Amino acid sequence: MMLGALRRFAVVVAIVASPLSLVEPVQASETIDPQKQLEDVFGAFKDAAMRIQTSQAKELARWTGPIYLAFSDSAGLERARADVESTVSTLAAVVRVPVERVAANDPRVNFLVRASTRNSSGATPCFTIIDWDDTGRLVRVELHLNLSNLERLTRCTNHEILHGFGLRSHPDKAFSVLSYRYNTQAHLTDTDRIILETLYDARLPAAGSMDSIGRIACGLIADRLQVSIDRAASVCERQHAPVRTSLFGRPHENIGQ
Ligand SMILES: [Zn+2]
Repeated sequence: MMLGALRRFAVVVAIVASPLSLVEPVQASETIDPQKQLEDVFGAFKDAAMRIQTSQAKELARWTGPIYLAFSDSAGLERARADVESTVSTLAAVVRVPVERVAANDPRVNFLVRASTRNSSGATPCFTIIDWDDTGRLVRVELHLNLSNLERLTRCTNHEILHGFGLRSHPDKAFSVLSYRYNTQAHLTDTDRIILETLYDARLPAAGSMDSIGRIACGLIADRLQVSIDRAASVCERQHAPVRTSLFGRPHENIGQ
């Protein structure tokens, strides 16, 4: 696929559970200070939507047109099919893009689901390859699901689909299906939903100054969390973007392994 300024990235979810659980009890939401909650959710947004691996993204990534979803004919993939269809449809409705199921050989396919195959180190990683352009438009997503670990297939599926909607990194501190800290979390969380809704908010530009995008995103999150403008300002105005580093020269970067 030869587009002018195509970005490509592969994000990989660790397939080995960490030796100990780092998961702390989640506080009931009514006990959380709204300003702290804004800081946390905005932090998750910056980590998940404005980064690629550990570097700052140069633009956001989101679907602007229909998703054409297809499944390869990999053996065993049918066991994941219903869950994938359901989650993709649910998230597409949240971000207001249509989804059409098409055959794997349909030239329109832009969201392909495959079974992961064993790599040279003997692992069958769960990962996604994401292509987007410099206007922040997602072009193609390819999910590789690890069907050899059924216990973690739900997490693998939900985690990778969320990457496939433009969250290209891991907000580890957040209670999110994309977090490695909460590495047994299998389902999308409230935080995931808010950061996804924010990413697709029509008031948020996909490209331009990332500092400015961050401030707008923070305001949108404050609005969703019903944090007052005054209280939000102290969080949103002091946000600093991470230092830029060059990453795009290295396609197929794998993270999380
Ligand atoms: Zn991941």
